[in-house]
Amino acid sequence: MQAHLFSLPHCTLPLPRFPNNAYPSNFAIFQQPHHSSKLSFNVGLNHLLPKSIFLGKTLPGLMSSYGGHVGVVVQCGPSNGESDVGNYDDGFYMKKCVELARKAVGFTSPNPIVGCVIVKDGKIVGQGFHPKAGQPHAEVFALRDAGDLAENATAYVSLEPCNHFGRTPPCTEALIKAKVKKVVVGMVDPNPLVESKGLARLRDAGIEVVVGVEEELCKSLNEAFVHRMLTGKPLLTLRYSLSVNGNFSDLLGDRVTECGGYYSRLLQEYDAVILSSSLFSGKVSIPASQEPGANQPLRIIIHKDASYLNKIPKDASYLNKIPLAVNEVSDKVIVFTDNETATAPELAKKGIETVILDQINLDVILDYCNRQGMCSVLLDLRGNSSEYEELVKEGIQKKNISKFVTEILPIWNRGSEIDLLIPVKSLDQVIQVENLKSKGSDQNVIIEGHFKF
Ligand SMILES: [Zn+2]
Repeated sequence: MQAHLFSLPHCTLPLPRFPNNAYPSNFAIFQQPHHSSKLSFNVGLNHLLPKSIFLGKTLPGLMSSYGGHVGVVVQCGPSNGESDVGNYDDGFYMKKCVELARKAVGFTSPNPIVGCVIVKDGKIVGQGFHPKAGQPHAEVFALRDAGDLAENATAYVSLEPCNHFGRTPPCTEALIKAKVKKVVVGMVDPNPLVESKGLARLRDAGIEVVVGVEEELCKSLNEAFVHRMLTGKPLLTLRYSLSVNGNFSDLLGDRVTECGGYYSRLLQEYDAVILSSSLFSGKVSIPASQEPGANQPLRIIIHKDASYLNKIPKDASYLNKIPLAVNEVSDKVIVFTDNETATAPELAKKGIETVILDQINLDVILDYCNRQGMCSVLLDLRGNSSEYEELVKEGIQKKNISKFVTEILPIWNRGSEIDLLIPVKSLDQVIQVENLKSKGSDQNVIIEGHFKF
């Protein structure tokens, strides 16, 4: 472990050391080269993403080669089989792209998730998705899958093909080289490096281009990516639980943390989750997504100096110690604290980094996440409210909290002294909420929406 001491605003946050061997569960690297064959509250709190819902049926694996390696892409929808010829419209194929893209949810930041299918004579002859930053884009996998069949075919892609050299060559050139006849695009890339340049390049090459098919679906798919491109900050979502009589609750529903539960899916989808250190003083363990093959989010544990609460001497209070109930999880965990005395050697032994700040605030956390290339951050309101109060206030006042996810628990409870929503409720403003949605998750109701500042 390394303890980093610095003062704001001249802080230099360290880059955490994460494993780089994580891939979507259905994307495998083999060593042998293979040839391709194939509401408004007083203060609107808010809302949840359907992004991580897997819609597709699973069909036999498809091999795609790249750089001497082979990726196994599990197909959705019609395969290269003979019986799948159909008169489907552009929307049908774009939805296939979205299904494919979702297979890499949680893996691609700072890149978007993207899917691509190549269609010829009513048949899908190639498909692929972008599995991870640094790996080829969706179009490359789909074109390799289609092989010569890409010529005079139509390429469907959920996001405008790139036209710049990044870590991979431009996809526009790959599409031109493959001699596709038409390209159907879900949405224009909000990245200033890309925006409409890819479309222009394709049109200049004589390729017919259609834009905006299933556009809202495609925008929703990459909401966090779009947000970061437009604002320069990760998308920040507030999550909390309420009883049916509207009181704050520190609990999560019985099964929401299990595979398929909304909480497990949130952890799969978000790049980072902010948690209170007080949460781990009992038997609670570091939360992790239970979705198969999920790329776990960075667990950012906030630990504030508790001495101001009851004038407890800094070096005398157990409250000041960072709880060690981190179980066996040390991977992708980082502690942010304003308490120099709180650093625990035991954490160091586990390889958990501790960053000491003069003051813990959202700007620092979001800036840190942004520099890591993260697109989305979840602020999970559980544990000691004192560790969150200022963060939530700051997030609302600076309009940094874009969304909310509220879990309504099947309980009627008395108001507790611990009401993490008090700082928000006391704000003298009304914030409208839009895109309000609700859904069930086991015995609970999940409400999500966007703040309309
Ligand atoms: Zn590309």
